[in-house]
Amino acid sequence: MRLYLILLLTVSFAFLHSKAQSCKTDSPTVSTLSSLKETIKKDPRKNLVDLKKLIPGLLVSMPYASSNNFTKVNLYKNPFACLRQEPALALKKIQEELSKKGLALKLYDAFRPFPVTCKMWRLVPDRRYAANPRNGSNHNRGVAVDLTIIDIKTGKELKMGTPFDNFTDSAHHNFYNLPPEVIANRRLLKTVMRKYGFNIVPTEWWHYQWMNRAGYEIIDLDFDDIREILH
Ligand SMILES: [Zn+2]
Repeated sequence: MRLYLILLLTVSFAFLHSKAQSCKTDSPTVSTLSSLKETIKKDPRKNLVDLKKLIPGLLVSMPYASSNNFTKVNLYKNPFACLRQEPALALKKIQEELSKKGLALKLYDAFRPFPVTCKMWRLVPDRRYAANPRNGSNHNRGVAVDLTIIDIKTGKELKMGTPFDNFTDSAHHNFYNLPPEVIANRRLLKTVMRKYGFNIVPTEWWHYQWMNRAGYEIIDLDFDDIREILH
């Protein structure tokens, strides 16, 4: 009897725990590899492209793949940097344009699995810092990037005034109480990103999203789930 009770308690705890872990969004979502493949078959622009393979000299350094991020938890398992086809090809052109000036892109994040957005929200349920899973993030749709510019010769990041994921006013695009060099660097990034089809968000100098992003579903799959269809 006692054993039965212990078993019952364990099972109900596991059930409640798994319920608490569940996470829903109101946006159109693909939750299986076969449904993702289906959407790609209907619209090849939805292909996911490996950015390191596509873009020569692209530096990728993902803070979410270590505990050195705002959640203090390693959020990524076996990550790679990928985007949908159109923004990926645009990023290649941006890299080509910057390379003429001795500069290159450094990527902090690109596609982010929806389960990670859920985990971020559980750790930090505050809209100022994390995307509410209800709406999802454009990172979950494979159409947003977090990035900066580096000097190819030194490998150093250009001064942008704040680090990545700094959630203060000084990271905002309309914050101008900064050294002229920082303002010029942010303007350089903004100009080149907009030229090839990306939009800003006002509160994060490092975040850009594909302008023509209507119709891209949230991808509720992990990196390992989608690796086999990566281009
Ligand atoms: Zn972002």
